[in-house]
Amino acid sequence: MTSVFRDEHWIGGAFVPAGSGDRIEVENPYTEEVFGHVPAGTAEDVNLAVSAARAAFDGWASASPAERGAALSRLHRAVAARADEIARIVGLELGTPLKIAKAVQAGLPLTVLAGYAELAAQPPADEIIGNSLVVHEPAGVVGAITPWNYPLHQVVAKVGAALAAGCTVVLKPSELTPLTAYLLADAFAEADLPAGVFNMVTGTGPVVGAAIAGHPDVDLVSFTGSTVTGRAISRAAADRIAKVSLELGGKSANVVLEDADVVKAVKVGVGNAFLNSGQTCTAWTRMLVHRSHYDEAVELAAKTAAGYTVGDPFDPATRLGPLASAAQKERVRGFIERATARLVAGGLDAPVPGQGHFVAPTVFADVDPDSELAQEEIFGPVLSIIPFGDDDEAVAIANNSKYGLAGAVWGSSDRALAVARRLRTGAVDVNGGSFNPFAPFGGYKQSGIGRELGAYGLAEFQQVKAIQR
Ligand code: NAD
Repeated sequence: MTSVFRDEHWIGGAFVPAGSGDRIEVENPYTEEVFGHVPAGTAEDVNLAVSAARAAFDGWASASPAERGAALSRLHRAVAARADEIARIVGLELGTPLKIAKAVQAGLPLTVLAGYAELAAQPPADEIIGNSLVVHEPAGVVGAITPWNYPLHQVVAKVGAALAAGCTVVLKPSELTPLTAYLLADAFAEADLPAGVFNMVTGTGPVVGAAIAGHPDVDLVSFTGSTVTGRAISRAAADRIAKVSLELGGKSANVVLEDADVVKAVKVGVGNAFLNSGQTCTAWTRMLVHRSHYDEAVELAAKTAAGYTVGDPFDPATRLGPLASAAQKERVRGFIERATARLVAGGLDAPVPGQGHFVAPTVFADVDPDSELAQEEIFGPVLSIIPFGDDDEAVAIANNSKYGLAGAVWGSSDRALAVARRLRTGAVDVNGGSFNPFAPFGGYKQSGIGRELGAYGLAEFQQVKAIQR
């Protein structure tokens, strides 16, 4: 059994001892054993990190694009050298099956970081508008606060973009999965970026997260996590009118139209809903199926779910690992217990391994679009299937949500595209179009404010200045 003990924060280009001896234990959600700890940081630790980021800002903001690009390329190489270890630590602290951990938890952030190294090397495009020269400048010191479900990707989506834009950063990773973030700090140590451009303080949300969100010297707070915390962060930043970007929850619809390839739509749809044990903000957790295919889709979804191999994340046969924590498991079980729809796969009595925070892959049919099951983000392997009669009804049901993060449409290409345009969400995949890590990512409605990834993600970390001549 690996043990990983980290007792320092990464501040000002060095690992520095935490101000207090308090620690946060890190549990393996499969074995239910504690296998590591990190410091429970304090507001004083945050002050030190923000001071280091502020001190580094002028130098980094005025570095040439070539310098910033080269620095991010060095960082990319140092992270790439740790890819296997990243996948292993994510498997240990989150429970993601190893194959998925390698491809998604380690592979995706590497792709994103390589993209930001390239973008950093390009000079920001100035614009001429009449007698004005419009320039794009780094926004300042960034506070980044991230969740546990994609512990490196969500960090890199912020840190890569912010550094590429010329900002400096103070990161607080999730207290549930902090060890992955330490591998990024190790990569920073190796890549030799200027001291203070990236700083990391571990700790709880109410202490370290709140200190970052409310810090008078943090110019922009970039947050990914739950909508409830997003509100708290917005309020804290509002007091000093600091810019906030928020990537929040979702309840995305997978719309299977009358002329869709139903088998493909259902199989891909179930896989999407259960990716990372359903702990994915973009998960298509509502499957909307045209009545002409409804029975077939329900039967196929139930069969697909029942065929999942559930178990040890490090067993190559495993497709579904445990949920991230005991609390998450209880939360998800609560949704299943309260559900009144027709259970067609999984449920509370379905067999799961005797250890670990498991919930069986679960499918409900005939789900009322207004019910809790169809409205709330469950963040577990629970799929709701809902019938519809025509495209207008499908759009109405899909948009009947406080969220608007992602979605999918299956059908003949023009018809599916027309429906995709009508969905009030930040992204839609048509007929299995694959995730694009350089396209803008973010939400409508309560799924967030702002966009991450690619050039749109970088622009979140810039200010715009008009110089009149
Ligand atoms: P969470 O909101 O509980 O925590 C996220 C982060 O915020 C953690 O680092 C936490 O310590 C911190 N935090 C908690 N309270 C805080 C406070 N008062 N002030 C400042 N920081 C605070 O979310 P989670 O449980 O870690 O993650 C799951 C949620 O994240 C889900 O709702 C999911 O949909 C969402 N999510 C969204 C996206 C997206 O891009 N839209 C991506 C992944 C996850």
